[in-house]
Amino acid sequence: MFGVWKNVLAEVEQVIPREQFSTWFTGTELVSIEDGVVTVGVPNVFKIKQLQVKYSEVLKTAFSHNNVEVKQLSYIVQGNNKTKVRSGEITSTPTAIGGTARVSSLVRKNKTPNSLQTGLNPKYNLDNFVTGTNNILAVSVARNIVDQPGEKYNPFFLYGGPGLGKTHLVHAIGNALVAKDAKIKIQYMAVSGFYSDFIKAVQNKTTAEFRQRFRALDVLIIDDFQMIMGKDASQVEFFDIFNELYGMNKQIIVTSDRLPDQIKKIDERLASRLSWAGTFDLQLPQFEDKCAILRAKAEFSGIEIEDEAIEYLAENVKTNIRDLEGEFNHLLAVADLKGITPLEVINEGYVNTNKGMRSKTVSPRLVVEKVAKFYQLTPKEMCSKSRVANIKNARQVAMYILSRELGMSTPKIAAEVGVKDHTTVMHGIKKIEGDLKLNFTLRDQIAALREKIYG
Ligand code: ADP
Ligand code: MG
Repeated sequence: MFGVWKNVLAEVEQVIPREQFSTWFTGTELVSIEDGVVTVGVPNVFKIKQLQVKYSEVLKTAFSHNNVEVKQLSYIVQGNNKTKVRSGEITSTPTAIGGTARVSSLVRKNKTPNSLQTGLNPKYNLDNFVTGTNNILAVSVARNIVDQPGEKYNPFFLYGGPGLGKTHLVHAIGNALVAKDAKIKIQYMAVSGFYSDFIKAVQNKTTAEFRQRFRALDVLIIDDFQMIMGKDASQVEFFDIFNELYGMNKQIIVTSDRLPDQIKKIDERLASRLSWAGTFDLQLPQFEDKCAILRAKAEFSGIEIEDEAIEYLAENVKTNIRDLEGEFNHLLAVADLKGITPLEVINEGYVNTNKGMRSKTVSPRLVVEKVAKFYQLTPKEMCSKSRVANIKNARQVAMYILSRELGMSTPKIAAEVGVKDHTTVMHGIKKIEGDLKLNFTLRDQIAALREKIYG
């Protein structure tokens, strides 16, 4: 009977994407087949719903190919399940342990580059990276790189504030490239890892091997480049490796929380090379983007959560996607603990103490005061007709925050900041949005202002 399960899994693995296979079928096992009733054991309750909704048909078809006509497919939660189902060929013979049969020690035969060698985390992929207004350009570049590594977007320089998805997106590119070509040589590492490996190589007198290791790569992904150390030997080494890989049309991917020329200790020539193919950023998600991310997360984990609860989180977590996920998990944990739904948790006031969560209602007046003070102006000065550059800029920042954070209409904003009409407000907001793309100081200022406003 258990030989059947082995074959069924092998077939399922062929027909669904690999990441989904490992997410949903890891730890599953065949418990029994009786009179057409097939019972599958799963490690946790979240998987049951997803398997029922998404994979029952696939499983039934695979069973029928193995001469088992399934009348009913049922799932039960099996505790302490250590069984691992992985992609690749399944070679073991199943055994029965203590009355419950298990498919044990399933191993891969044809090894694909594993995450230890590449540094890639299989949990980050393009399927679970939600595309929205905040990242659409970066995602399309990522897809282009997966199609044609080393060509149009080389190097790919991806920047944006913390928690906006840089690490996720670059792992996703790496994983997609491995899925396309298992032989591709990829290395993902944080720049700190590059630095410490280099230091070790110097100490052990193995710099030649160190170089060789990088020069043999098809794709090099360096995360958090802003942490690069001074203009020392490691940066020179990186520059050399960069030039050599680039010369061989090998894909280089670099992330950073700021633009190359704003990284303090970076060599100018390196900064300019990193921008050769353009720079791409991930921006703060808007309300719709946040809702889409949370919906995808809920669906992927087979979790039920009310729309209102999702909207509440999207509206109240203003910082970044990492915090948004944190609040989402916190909410689910509280719901689980109290045995009530996520929306009930919110309605009963159990949340809103955490970081990123802005329960406080902010008045337009408060925004005007805080922005004015931040730029060392009085509200009256800021909301005057003055066209002096710093005063105008402060006024436009206030307009931007009133629109983006408080969701105010442009005529209301016009009245609040003392400008003639709403087109001036629209122009002001556009101006700030444009500047935010390139001006890291302004980004920092707006982030600091958010803290002051909500803090
Ligand atoms: P960064 O490297 O920019 O600091 P991360 O890549 O670590 O950010 O992202 C923080 C968290 O937010 C991760 O758990 C990541 O999976 C999630 N995340 C970010 N952007 C998205 C997105 N577009 N869709 C789904 N999850 C996202
Ligand atoms: Mg990161």
